[in-house]
Amino acid sequence: MSKIHRIKCGNVNCHIIDNGTSGILVDTGKKEFLDKVMEACRSYNVKLIILTHAHFDHAENAARISDTLGIPIGMNENDRNLIQSNSNQSLSAATILGKIVLSASLREFSVRSIPEFKPDVWLHNDDRLDDYGIDARILSLPGHTDGSIGIDVDGKHFIAGDALMNMFYPTVSMLYHNKDSMLESARKISNIGNRIIYFGHGKPVLNKNWVK
Ligand SMILES: [Zn+2]
Repeated sequence: MSKIHRIKCGNVNCHIIDNGTSGILVDTGKKEFLDKVMEACRSYNVKLIILTHAHFDHAENAARISDTLGIPIGMNENDRNLIQSNSNQSLSAATILGKIVLSASLREFSVRSIPEFKPDVWLHNDDRLDDYGIDARILSLPGHTDGSIGIDVDGKHFIAGDALMNMFYPTVSMLYHNKDSMLESARKISNIGNRIIYFGHGKPVLNKNWVK
């Protein structure tokens, strides 16, 4: 059984899946939190970085951590265009809170650039992480971005990235590149059943019916 450690980086979460001897870092945080995330990677002997998607608040430290620790980066290839610029996939929002978050995000997209990296592994739906000593599988969750993925660990924990959010309250993603796919992905998460859901933003909650 693995443990999930939430590494809080301001309003963004990174997670480490820890099997007791080594770990996988899921998302890397903003550059201001590089030292904190790097230290956590060292203490849990992290061997792989997975990006749930390539928005800068999740991917900004990927290159530095990968280079310093000499470990690979895995993500879905449909987010490849976001590494060049987060503006390469448009974002929309429906709710008032969502629109506030959207305008703050777009402002940051225009001034942030992700230090360049080349992913070593393209991750696809149903890929397993047994090679890293962890009982987990990748779930493709397009919508927030085209290449968003989640990770189902031990049939118990689910790391959702930004496919769901808990910034103000637990909800389907307030920002999306494609609304229909985003809702379909949220339904997919509901259907996996009893899990603790870990978000890119906010505290974990129990899985539920996300789309009413
Ligand atoms: Zn995002």
